[in-house]
Amino acid sequence: MRTRYGISPWIRDFPASRRPELPRFRGDRAADVVIVGGGLTGCATAYACAAAGLGTVLLDAERLGCGSTGRSAGLLAPEPGPAFRDVAAAHGLRAARIAFETWRRGALDGAALLRRLGIRCDLQPCDTIVVAGRDEEKRLRRELAARREAGLDVTSLGARQVATLMGLEAAAALRSRSSFTLDPYRACLGLASAAARRGAELFERSRVRQVRFTRRYADVLAEGGTIRTRAVVVATGSATSEFKALRRHFRRRETYVVMTEPVPAAVRRQLGDRAFILGDVRVPPHRVRWTRDDRLVVAGADQNETPPRTRNALLVQRTGQLMYELLTMYPAISGLQPEYGWEASYGDTADGLLYIGAHRNFPFHLFALGGGRDSVTGAFVAARIVVRAVQGAPDKADQVFGWNR
Ligand SMILES: Cc1cc2nc3c(=O)[nH]c(=O)nc-3n(C[C@H](O)[C@H](O)[C@H](O)COP(=O)(O)OP(=O)(O)OC[C@H]3O[C@@H](n4cnc5c(N)ncnc54)[C@H](O)[C@@H]3O)c2cc1C
Repeated sequence: MRTRYGISPWIRDFPASRRPELPRFRGDRAADVVIVGGGLTGCATAYACAAAGLGTVLLDAERLGCGSTGRSAGLLAPEPGPAFRDVAAAHGLRAARIAFETWRRGALDGAALLRRLGIRCDLQPCDTIVVAGRDEEKRLRRELAARREAGLDVTSLGARQVATLMGLEAAAALRSRSSFTLDPYRACLGLASAAARRGAELFERSRVRQVRFTRRYADVLAEGGTIRTRAVVVATGSATSEFKALRRHFRRRETYVVMTEPVPAAVRRQLGDRAFILGDVRVPPHRVRWTRDDRLVVAGADQNETPPRTRNALLVQRTGQLMYELLTMYPAISGLQPEYGWEASYGDTADGLLYIGAHRNFPFHLFALGGGRDSVTGAFVAARIVVRAVQGAPDKADQVFGWNR
């Protein structure tokens, strides 16, 4: 089998006939909210704003969902990414508890919304199990104790339980509920359609070049025209060149994802229960999930962003590396081939949390930026925070994700 490199199967396998052909933006006009970026964050926010009765326009520079959304591994995780102990050390126990509880609610709310809207995106509930080897066991146990002390919903597993459940060797593991796997591209397009049904206007191939503001309003200067508004939601993944001043908050990283060919039934039986997302505490960490058609998806091998000219060679090397690392976890998959290997860049924040909310140097702007490897959930968290802010009713707890944290 030949591996397809650089292609996301979620995007490739979506039927072209069902893909909406959205117009380019043309003309000058006004809107209650203008959303810049049509990934999962932009589309979830467009739905939330339109459902709240706000006149909403969304502009994407390319095609909806084809940024990091369509290239993610498709985990709707109940945890924001960084360790609880690290967030508590950086921002205090209360803030860490809020961040983790908000994320868990975000995963549950996101899943409930996708179900309620009838969006077919292979949404599957599961648990997340984070395993540690002997040399990492102490760190994992401290993390577990800290989360328990904070009242978070987490349980511990011993080596034998991990072997029975997951079919792999580990010294200890941490198990948390409220996770889901999904097809992120379908989820994104489904939310976009739902937003359009609620009256949001969506445009593709309509890059925003600049946002100018006065004391009374902001003008969003896009290819094709200008939109006057009092709320610009920037959901471009990381700070783009239009927001140079904010770029120092993000470290450019890239991550890799591999999807295997279908795992034969005889091998599957040796790999334990499939209703789990598997993670580990290595640096960089791995995440492993199953798809509905019996494939394994493994993500990891994160590193600082590399120059485009070296990407192709690196992609082949990283795909091989991820397959090897998967094999060390699951020796039974020996001989299994990678069918897809792809990568994407993201902007990592210093503490691993998203920046969601207003910035004092940018009147009328609301940002939802910093989605790294764990933030499909962040899209739903951001949508709620943004709608509250646009309606002038922010929650004090939202400051945990603010620029002044
Ligand atoms: C390889 C990879 C794997 C990942 N895996 C996971 C995972 O397993 N689980 C998880 O929870 N998260 C994962 N993530 C993160 C997750 O995919 C994203 O953070 C999440 O989908 C939200 O994306 P977004 O909408 O914020 O950004 P994006 O999907 O990147 O969307 C941003 C959009 O903004 C548009 N845009 C940019 N500039 C402009 C402009 N000037 N004008 C108009 N539009 C513009 C782009 O065209 C793009 O469509 C992963 C990320 C990567 C890169």
